[in-house]
Amino acid sequence: MDIKIQQVETSKIESVDFSNLSFGQVFTDHMLVCSYTNGEWESPEIIPYGPMTFEPSARVFHYGQAVFEGMKAYKDDDGDIFLFRPDESIKRLNASSERLAMPALPEEIFHEGLKQLLHLDTEWIKKGFGNSLYLRPFVIATEPAISASPSNDYKFIIICSPAQSYYAGEVRVVVADKFSRAADGGVGYAKAAGNYASQFYPTSLAHKEGYQQIIWTDANTHEYMEEAGTMNIFFRIGDKLITAPTNDRILDGITRKSIIQLAKDNNIDIEVRNIKVSEIREAAEKGELKELFGSGTAAVVNPIKGFKHKDFTYELPELESTYASFFKEKLMNIQYNKSEDVHGWRVKV
Ligand SMILES: *Cc1c(COP(=O)(O)O)cnc(C)c1O
Repeated sequence: MDIKIQQVETSKIESVDFSNLSFGQVFTDHMLVCSYTNGEWESPEIIPYGPMTFEPSARVFHYGQAVFEGMKAYKDDDGDIFLFRPDESIKRLNASSERLAMPALPEEIFHEGLKQLLHLDTEWIKKGFGNSLYLRPFVIATEPAISASPSNDYKFIIICSPAQSYYAGEVRVVVADKFSRAADGGVGYAKAAGNYASQFYPTSLAHKEGYQQIIWTDANTHEYMEEAGTMNIFFRIGDKLITAPTNDRILDGITRKSIIQLAKDNNIDIEVRNIKVSEIREAAEKGELKELFGSGTAAVVNPIKGFKHKDFTYELPELESTYASFFKEKLMNIQYNKSEDVHGWRVKV
């Protein structure tokens, strides 16, 4: 595939302090841009990262036709670059796009675009366990027209941001009993931009009470645990691990499905089923609730220290050995080419 590359004259990498990165604040020298117009995706281009111009009438600003992905590139000690299950990301991007009446992106543009971009900005992917390059592929509606209908023009863009091992600090969560993230028949399963905007306000209320995130419950009854803002959720009761099944309200996380597989591979008792809030509260009261953790590309596995539901609060016990750290290590060893990869999840680019 022919990708036109316009390189920066001087890299800004020297000005970046890689030992002190805030997540998602610094971007690499280049980005990939691919336009969709007249019913077709044009040839992608790699150009210097920087501001782009859009008409104020561009549809994305008015009706939110925007979807994204979150991935990481990793480097091993030999300097080879790897992605984790990129085939799942492009499938999900296209599933998200379909739900928002946006055109599917040819998989080849995604894979080849990533490859060329990563090789061009390879200096930005630092070696060392925990270092990575966070990748943000996204599609937006750019047609300058404000009638409420799908756009005829789109842009697919990939921007890249160097990241260190992500530590979110101590995370405590509120179990939702009023607001909802997603509804049956809605867009919850899509990585649609609007899903995140609608969480900011309820999450800011949780912040005021000293909680960092919300575990969303089903919109109809608020009786079932679903997922967090950008993470799927796992519960450990005794030695059993439980996570909710995906449905049209829940994002089908790649980390989540990898953990389910690893649990099976390692003879950890895993159940994928509906989880009642009352079941978790009872397990907590009986001292059987051992762990609660989120899963997602950014943090891999994020242990949760405590939760609140209505007037009930609970602090998780401190354990010597946790499923959370077990899965985090297993996944990172695969991602960084430090262990065997029996499922073929690691893809060298
Ligand atoms: C991205 C995301 C996840 C995690 O998905 P991964 O593929 O594991 O990164 C979970 N829930 C929501 C709502 C998300 O947006």
